[in-house]
Amino acid sequence: MTTPEHSPRPKPVLLLVLDGIRPDVLRAAVEAGEAPNLGALAERGEAVWDAVSVFPSITPAATAAIATGEAPARSGIVGHAWYDERERRVVVYGAMTETVMATGPIKVFHNNVWRMNRDDLKAATLFETLHDRGFDGACVNFPVRRGPHTHPIRMKTVENYRKNGRYLGPSVEGPKRYFMGDLFYSQETGFNGRKASGGIFRSAGINDEYAARIGAMLVKERSAPFNLVYFFKGDSIAHHHGLQAQREWLQTADGYVGRIFAAAGGVDRLLEEYAVLALSDHGHAPLLPGRRHVDLRRIPDLKVSSGIRARFGRNVDAVVVPNGRSALLYLRDGIAQEGVAQSLIGRRGVDVAAWSGDGWANALGGGGRLRFRPGEGPRDASGRSWELEGDPQALDLDVSDGELGYGDYPDALERLWGLLSTPRCGDVVLSATPGYTFGEISGGYHKASDHGSLHAEDSNVFVLAGGFEGGEAAPRRITDVAPMLLGHFGAGRPAEERVH
Ligand SMILES: [Zn+2]
Repeated sequence: MTTPEHSPRPKPVLLLVLDGIRPDVLRAAVEAGEAPNLGALAERGEAVWDAVSVFPSITPAATAAIATGEAPARSGIVGHAWYDERERRVVVYGAMTETVMATGPIKVFHNNVWRMNRDDLKAATLFETLHDRGFDGACVNFPVRRGPHTHPIRMKTVENYRKNGRYLGPSVEGPKRYFMGDLFYSQETGFNGRKASGGIFRSAGINDEYAARIGAMLVKERSAPFNLVYFFKGDSIAHHHGLQAQREWLQTADGYVGRIFAAAGGVDRLLEEYAVLALSDHGHAPLLPGRRHVDLRRIPDLKVSSGIRARFGRNVDAVVVPNGRSALLYLRDGIAQEGVAQSLIGRRGVDVAAWSGDGWANALGGGGRLRFRPGEGPRDASGRSWELEGDPQALDLDVSDGELGYGDYPDALERLWGLLSTPRCGDVVLSATPGYTFGEISGGYHKASDHGSLHAEDSNVFVLAGGFEGGEAAPRRITDVAPMLLGHFGAGRPAEERVH
């Protein structure tokens, strides 16, 4: 341990990420006494109900932002699918079963577990930065977990697939203690099942019950300075059954959280010994009962290639990669971004179209057009000032007395800016109107609820923070989580980006 002399050893941290839980859904559950453990954390610490995800508000991009403190352009993870212009193919990290089956389960699995962390993630993770400063980490099920320790794959079935193909690998790099169902575990816990059967995703034993058990074990053993535990079921419940079902599920999820609290001797003991952050990675937007799917496989005057095997072949003008309530459009050289954005913005379900060029970001929406870049102009709540030209209504901005206020699109300038500067996001990016979705790369789409857009419905997240000392304020953006925790450990911001 290389804590500086004279300074007391910082408290260990417990970071709980609950995928896709809407802040208003949790808040209502807490107020009704249906989530007593998360409620106790909110009561004893600070609760933020309008913190903000990244854009696209989608799990791989958002979990990468939490783990690295960087928005998609700098983390390198722009969605759950994107078009790799270098390799001339679509990369899918995982999504609906239909998409997984169309892509091939092994390929998706490879992309998610190996490629995303090893090849595509450009920024250092908390596990890496904290390790460099002398603090070990522990991770349960969280998808972005690159770290300095090698973990061999523990499942024979995966080992067998690996031997006859170019996908998968013998091990992954993670924090000192790493647990992901039956696939990876840095110690025997007794929680890995023989009962499991079926395909890779069914049998891998990756679920929230497992996360709760391992989380409780980590807290009981008080072994790691930084612990990250991930619960994902609340997101899929909302996708399939809607927000009321998510609220009902919260009772179960809160019970899992309670199990971890109990392992420390209750919430008060836990907060004496640990600094605790609980948050969601993105929200959820309910979909219309019918005509909710905005099918981007047809765009007037453009030859579109979409689907798992989309690529720029002869005569193809655009490769379209839907990402739930956002979409990434890659255009052939010579096709004007603005023309494509203009042709799409009037279409039912298309809310905002954005692109960048000549050092500016541009957005069409709300009947207006706005361009912006960091510079002289009104300040947002974080203190960053922006140079604006055009109609602030395009992004529902309120500009008065040198201050910038947001309406339907929280933190829109920072979030668009944090995506558009990477070629990985394509040439035009779309955000869907509430009630609509662009669906997935396979052509399928969720029925009850979806996320990914710039709109508040799927962009706002909750953050609960307890047990921190010295006036550390709870993060207002998910990209603030990593800097806050590095500050807590006295480790500063990551010194440089790594390339692996
Ligand atoms: Zn989701």
